[in-house]
Amino acid sequence: MSGFKIYGHCPGALRPMGSGDGLVVRIRPPLGRLTPAQARGLAEAAAQFGTGNLELTSRANLQIRGIPEAAHPALIGALSALGLVDPDPAAERARNLIVTPFHRAGDGTMELAGALTETLLTAPPLPAKFGLALDCGRAPVLRDTAADIRIERDAGGRLLIRPDGLSEGQLTTASEAPGAVLSLLRWFADHGVGADGRGRMRDAAARLTSFRAQAIPAPAATTPPAGPAEGGLLVAAPFGLLPAKALAALAEHASELCLTPWRALFLPGATALPDVPGLITDPGDPLLRVSACTGAPGCPQALAATRPLARSLAAHLPPGQRLHVSGCAKGCAHPDPAEITLTATPEGFSLAHHARAADPPERRGLSPQTLLASPSLLTRTDDAPSL
Ligand code: SF4
Repeated sequence: MSGFKIYGHCPGALRPMGSGDGLVVRIRPPLGRLTPAQARGLAEAAAQFGTGNLELTSRANLQIRGIPEAAHPALIGALSALGLVDPDPAAERARNLIVTPFHRAGDGTMELAGALTETLLTAPPLPAKFGLALDCGRAPVLRDTAADIRIERDAGGRLLIRPDGLSEGQLTTASEAPGAVLSLLRWFADHGVGADGRGRMRDAAARLTSFRAQAIPAPAATTPPAGPAEGGLLVAAPFGLLPAKALAALAEHASELCLTPWRALFLPGATALPDVPGLITDPGDPLLRVSACTGAPGCPQALAATRPLARSLAAHLPPGQRLHVSGCAKGCAHPDPAEITLTATPEGFSLAHHARAADPPERRGLSPQTLLASPSLLTRTDDAPSL
């Protein structure tokens, strides 16, 4: 039996999650950044202890999977030497902060991120998914990323605190923001957590009578999925799968690697990269519009392999449409509806349009061979141009 508890949800580095191919370890780089030395070390650790790939998650974290249980202590030792492990599981769990990748040197973002991290570590216990978004670049870019308290800027560049669920925020300053956030965290711990220990701010914000909303945040910017952006380069990994060799190669061409929730890394100051296999820098690459979960054999719940099929079908995807290939009805890779959704079932793949993985299908029992031989099956005739 395991010598330590293996968690089923929200894994960390110190709290690995069991999966079909070994342990999954999730790494939350401090302030959402990696130095080149950390990136090289992570690449080595993933090659030595895991499958040789890392995963970029939608929470701007990294995962190494396929770790034999006996190798977990050695992996933690390697990650600790890189400064990528918290002192204890409680700190790891509390440090739930996503930082805009598009900060500029000297704009105070890193200092504020550090202060908010300290705030989270001193806050009362909160639900596992409760987190902050520090979205104070020139324009907010994390609106589509789940967070419970957001720090943004108004149209004049002033800092705002905005509880998720409210359309207006409260003006603050960099020095006042940590205290104001702590007050909100305490209020939520007292009023927002349900009997099951869960809860999100958006469901509780209407009861926040002490909060004085003052200003409307600036409109969201459109974030490119890959390629040049905000004085750097966004480098995407198909399905979030980042080969260790690719990460090591990126470390040679970057002064810093910023995690994003878009399954991409942002390299500030970079303008071009040599061709690194396994990465996407072309914003028109159709693979950017394909989501596929781990699938079989990595996930024990999976009813079929997902990514090989998804990769093969990408070239046949109608412009502007998203394909979601899910290993089961849970739909981990894309919780929202997608234009085309294929869900593995015991009888083959089911097909639905503008649907989530668990929604009723329009067709059932499709094999990968059938889909690959007739990709036009994916397209609803009234929905898109012909393939
Ligand atoms: S959607 Fe199902 S098969 Fe895919 S990763 Fe989630 S639980 Fe596993």
